[in-house]
Amino acid sequence: MCTVYYGPVINPQSLTDYLALPQCLICVSPQGNIEWLVEDVDSTKLNDVLSQHDYAPSDITLICLDDGEFLMPGLVDTHAHACQVPNLGVGGELELLQWLDNYTFPTEARFKNVEYAERTYPHVVRRIVNSGTTTCCYYGSLHLEATKVLASLVHTAGEFTLVKCNMNRNCPPNYIEPSVKESVDTTLALISYIEELPKSVSGETLLHPILTPRFAVHSNPELAIQTHISENKSEVELVKSLFKTNSYAETYDKFHLLRKNTVLAHGVQLTEDEMVLIAKRGSGVAHCPTSNFYLSSGMARVGMLLDHGVKVGLGTDVSGGYSPSILAEIQHASIASKMLAIQAVDNKKCKCNGGHSKSSSSGSEDTHSRGRHGHKHHEYQGDEKQPGRFTNQKLSIATLLYLATLGGAEVCCLQDRIGSFEQGKAFDALLVSVREDDTGNPAVWGYNPDRDLTHGVTAQSADNSLIEWLERFLFCGDDRNIKKVIVQGRTIGGRDYHPLR
Ligand SMILES: [Zn+2]
Repeated sequence: MCTVYYGPVINPQSLTDYLALPQCLICVSPQGNIEWLVEDVDSTKLNDVLSQHDYAPSDITLICLDDGEFLMPGLVDTHAHACQVPNLGVGGELELLQWLDNYTFPTEARFKNVEYAERTYPHVVRRIVNSGTTTCCYYGSLHLEATKVLASLVHTAGEFTLVKCNMNRNCPPNYIEPSVKESVDTTLALISYIEELPKSVSGETLLHPILTPRFAVHSNPELAIQTHISENKSEVELVKSLFKTNSYAETYDKFHLLRKNTVLAHGVQLTEDEMVLIAKRGSGVAHCPTSNFYLSSGMARVGMLLDHGVKVGLGTDVSGGYSPSILAEIQHASIASKMLAIQAVDNKKCKCNGGHSKSSSSGSEDTHSRGRHGHKHHEYQGDEKQPGRFTNQKLSIATLLYLATLGGAEVCCLQDRIGSFEQGKAFDALLVSVREDDTGNPAVWGYNPDRDLTHGVTAQSADNSLIEWLERFLFCGDDRNIKKVIVQGRTIGGRDYHPLR
C-alpha cells in the first residue's frame, strides 16, 4: 500500500532556489520511492487528486501533517568519523596534528577490541540518525572486525555510505596497518562483507563501501578514493615535503586519485589553481566548518569553490567537529561565509587606502543577500551565470539548504536518488515540528497560533510562515524538533521513533 503525505514541504531546487509548498501531496510507494508529487492541493481536493492517480482513499495510508510540522529532505553528512564520536568535545585547544596524536588516535585505537565496538557503535549510529542524517559518509577505524560491526548497524539503519579507513604511514605504532598488503586484504574483506549483506525491500543496495586513505600523510598511493585535503597549514607543508609536490591537490592527482566519486574533506587551504584542478576532475568537497573553527584550521572559501564549479556538501567531521548534527554545519557555514565577506570588504578598503590586500580574490559587494520571498519559489536575485556570484558572499538560506541536501548528494554521486523530493527518488525525509509544546525546544519560536496553516489562511501568508519555520529550524532547531527520520519510506529514527527493544 502506498503512503501519501499531505502538508507543508520544503524542496531544494538549486544553489539559489528552493520551493516552500504549504499544501503539497507526496505519494510514496511500498518500496519507499516517490511515485508522484503534486505541489499545491487544496484540502477539499484531496480525493480528486487521488482519483486522478487512480487511487481510492481506501487504497492508501494518508498522513496529514499537524499544524507546525513540515517535511524536508533528509540531511547528508559527507564526512564523519564514527570511531571518533566517543571523543566529542575534547581537545579543541589543540590544532590538527597535535589533536590527532593526543586525543584521536588513542580513541580510535580502542576499536581493536570488537566488544568495545559492539558497545559503542549502536549509540553512535543512533545519535547520528536522530540528528536528521539520512545519508552519511562514515570513516571507520582501521580495524576490520570493528568496521564490520559498524557496517551491520548502518545497514540496518538505512541508506548510508560506509568508509573504511586506511593508514600505513606516519602513524603511532599501536594504530597503523602493518603493510599495504594487509590494508588491501582487510579492505577487500570488508567490501565482501558489505556486498553479502541482505538487500533492502526495494532490492536496492543501501550501503556502499568506499576506499579511504585517511589523508595523504597516512596513505600509500596504492590505496585511495575518499580522504582529507588541505585542512591545516602544517599538514599542507608536511604533505608537500613528503610527496615532493607543489600542492596537496597535485599530490592526489599525481596518483589519479581525483575522480568524480572522490570526496575531499575540508579544503580550507586550497589555492584557486587547486580548485580549478578539482573542478576539472569532478571531485567534491565536504565543507566542515565546525571542525575548521574548533581545531583553528581556518575557513574554507566555499563561495569560490562553487564559482569554480566544484561540488560542495557539508560534513560534521566528528570529532574534529563537536556536533554530530548537520544543523551545526549549516549554522557555522553561514557564519564562516559572513566572516569571509567581512574580511573581503576590509581587504578592499585596505587596498583603496593604499594598504596591501591580503586576498587574491575579488571582494565584490553582497549582491544576493536580498531575498525575494516568492509565492512558492524562494530564490535570490541575480544572474546565475554571472561569474563570482558566490565568492566572498554570505551564503543564503537557499544555498545552505542545498549544501546540506542536494549538494551533499552530488558529492556522494547520489543526486539521482536522494537530496530532494522528485518522482523516482527515494523518499528520504525529515518530519520537522516547530511547536514548542510537543518538542520541548523553546528556542524555535516558529509556531505562531495566529498564522496557523489552516483553512482560510492565504497561500501567500502560509508560504511565508513556512519559509520562516525553515530558517528558524536551521538556526534554532535540534534533534528535539525532528519527529521522524525517514529513509526510503521507512521511519528509522527521530523523536517519535521507538524501536522494539
Ligand atoms: Zn575528518
